[in-house]
Amino acid sequence: MRATIIHAPGDIRVENAPEPTITAPTDAVIRTVATCVCGSDLWSYRGVLPIAEPWAIGHEYVGVVEEVGSEVSTVRPGQFVIGSFVASDNTCPNCRAGYQTSCLHAQQVNGAQAEYVRIPIADGTLVATPEQPDEELIPSLLTLSDVMGTGWYAARAAEIRPGSTAVVVGDGAVGLSGVIAAKELGAERIIAMSRHESRQKLALEFGATDIVTERGEEGVARVKELTNGVGADSVLECVGTQESMRQGLQSARPGGNVGFVGFPHGTQIDGQELFFSHVGLRGGLAPVRSYLPDLIQRVFDGRINPGKVFDLSLPLDQAAEGYKAMDQRRAIKTLLRP
Ligand SMILES: [Zn+2]
Repeated sequence: MRATIIHAPGDIRVENAPEPTITAPTDAVIRTVATCVCGSDLWSYRGVLPIAEPWAIGHEYVGVVEEVGSEVSTVRPGQFVIGSFVASDNTCPNCRAGYQTSCLHAQQVNGAQAEYVRIPIADGTLVATPEQPDEELIPSLLTLSDVMGTGWYAARAAEIRPGSTAVVVGDGAVGLSGVIAAKELGAERIIAMSRHESRQKLALEFGATDIVTERGEEGVARVKELTNGVGADSVLECVGTQESMRQGLQSARPGGNVGFVGFPHGTQIDGQELFFSHVGLRGGLAPVRSYLPDLIQRVFDGRINPGKVFDLSLPLDQAAEGYKAMDQRRAIKTLLRP
């Protein structure tokens, strides 16, 4: 089969690789229908995360079950399935509390930018769609395996309630998905912070009511201006830098909440500042498995269309170009078709 291998920073190759097989009775192998490049894949691509040896990259996928191990009972060959980027049993105490990415038996899913992928603990990890989806639903379903679920978690962690005011920091695929989540959860005012025209347009289409182009102190001042001087009820921090975290914490009102899902790179939080802000903070690796049944239904019902974050679609063999386009910010997110 064809699989995407990262050899070194900037060095992505689609190569022949052995097809994955069932290695544990709880595994499934799926034929990938669509996969994509994640913002977090770029950390390896840019050399921020070291690459000790070439490895099969990719953790976002939808596909058709090809084969299951003898202990798999909730999915069967032929079903169209979506799963999280972290495999989880969905039965341990952490899973039952809704934190499947902290599953006591969690395993990272890798190698998804390929024609076939092995999914561990398939019963807990994969969710089958109610029927075979129409072609046009596939990009939206694919976002549920990471970015849309992550935006949803940011909105939940920020405790968005009907009628509330939300700020979304970050206009990447996760931030844009966060706008969708804020709208679905009933936020009345959604302030998207973005300086890119095409992304502003998509944010407005997804439900943003205001765009703030300023950053840092000026961005905070602009949010305060829009919120009667007090700040927002909920802030979704979807970047992970020191600047975005500061901006997030300072944009929330006392008693407000920040949901932070941007993977932190060198962020520091001042204890005393947090103490006096009265701002609640929750985040981490999004338990997207928790939201799959609900979000699959919203996609099938046509309520949400997060697949619009894919502004580049390429055959799998052109994965290298897909990475380059995202790295150079020519594309928000690249979909790959095996
Ligand atoms: Zn678990």
